[in-house]
Amino acid sequence: MNDIETIINLAYVVAAALFILGLKLLSHPDTAKRGNFVSAVGMLIAVVVTLLDQQIITYQWIILGVVIGGAFGAWKAKSVEMTAMPEMVSLFNGFGGAASLLLGWATLSGMSMVALQTATAFTYITLFFTILVGGVTFSGSVVAWGKLSGKMSSKAVIFTGLRELSVLHLIAMLVVGYLFTTEPQNTLWLYCAIALALSFGLWATISIGGADMPVVIALLNSYSGVAATAAGLATGNTILIVTGLLVGASGLILTNIMCKAMNRSLMNVLLSGFSKPVEAGEKIEGEIKILSAQDAFYVLEAAQSVLVVPGYGMAVAQAQHAVREMQSLLEENGCTVDYAIHAVAGRMPGHMNVLLAEADVPYDQLYEMDDVNPRMENYDVVIVIGANDVVNPAAKEMKGSPIYGMPVIEAYRAKTVFVLKRSANAGFAGVDNPLFFKDNTRMVLGDAKETINSIVREFGDD
Ligand code: NDP
Repeated sequence: MNDIETIINLAYVVAAALFILGLKLLSHPDTAKRGNFVSAVGMLIAVVVTLLDQQIITYQWIILGVVIGGAFGAWKAKSVEMTAMPEMVSLFNGFGGAASLLLGWATLSGMSMVALQTATAFTYITLFFTILVGGVTFSGSVVAWGKLSGKMSSKAVIFTGLRELSVLHLIAMLVVGYLFTTEPQNTLWLYCAIALALSFGLWATISIGGADMPVVIALLNSYSGVAATAAGLATGNTILIVTGLLVGASGLILTNIMCKAMNRSLMNVLLSGFSKPVEAGEKIEGEIKILSAQDAFYVLEAAQSVLVVPGYGMAVAQAQHAVREMQSLLEENGCTVDYAIHAVAGRMPGHMNVLLAEADVPYDQLYEMDDVNPRMENYDVVIVIGANDVVNPAAKEMKGSPIYGMPVIEAYRAKTVFVLKRSANAGFAGVDNPLFFKDNTRMVLGDAKETINSIVREFGDD
């Protein structure tokens, strides 16, 4: 190994160490910003060293790409609404997959006849995987983006022959994989691999219902890492292998957490399109009791312990700062305030944690579902703010319900429950919620931010 190679490898080790440190720092809200910065520095080192090491393309093109991509990224990051963040994350995963696919394609196209004849089977197998997993990640992420942004129906698209088509698709992938690795100079197999990858990602995701999207997003994130690892193996780039493995492994851990939060196995989610449709849930009996924000205030003024359960509606209403203000007023009044965070609340992993951290809600007041459920009876009031599916007792009580078996925050077991939302409509999973009809539930209808601001004003007038 010459001196230059030693320096490059050392720089890669430094970059990899910064990625790992960055991931560690990202695991806590107080250090998350620093974690992001540390990882970005690692990425900068990795990119600069790679550009210096290899003659890829001329610097004019690289600079042009950096300027256009950087400007677009900065504009998107500034302009994206917080509620549109999940679909943007989904698109980013997709772009990661597309980058791997293009890298695999470009590597193969750039190989000379001699290189094509002398490369090992390992190179072709890893190139095939790069293209396959990259393509599946790209088209799957585009579908997830469509479902999350409401541009497509979030319902699972199922048609007769889906099972047979899947089996045929898998067989075709194996056959094309074999032909691709044995006849790499024949570009037909390259195009077939790309087409199969894109079509597989498309309808493998289309056949999964919107309610399972949290798992799909986490899994696609993991796929983008796997595609990058394969690309690193094919091109002999160490840092790509390391980053790909970190993304792949963390995506897989997240997938596991999401599956557990929904009480589903990964296979069950991926093959949900093949299972029998669930029967419609039972009809919910009872009457909805509506309360004004002023009357809600009188109850809260007398409460000793309150649990806040935020959900997607809090993000829509941007109510987090108002919630924080209400928390302070309740605490000044001698009441304890806890928060219960469901792992799939909102529209992306950690959605609620991010919003509450933005409003300076102390992290040690945030509890996971398993911490609060055993002591639910002790809370005087549970305030459900724009959450629906994650507090839906149908998951426990109604066998025919599509969400039956999903662990939920058992708000209905508290002494009193306030549900702050605009109507009694269903949440993301499209399932009616018996919580709204319980004897101890009162619905405070309206935009969550306006309702909480009204309660805050009542504290001020008092
Ligand atoms: P839900 O989507 O179940 O419910 C959100 C509720 O917020 C709606 O019923 C809506 O009711 C209410 N809402 C909307 N806007 C406002 C507003 N301005 N003020 C007050 N309320 C409002 O949310 P949950 O967080 O309970 O559950 C998350 C769901 O999303 C789960 O089904 C999960 O599987 C899914 N999901 C989660 C992802 C993740 O990674 N976390 C990713 C993709 C999907 P109304 O219209 O009556 O106001």
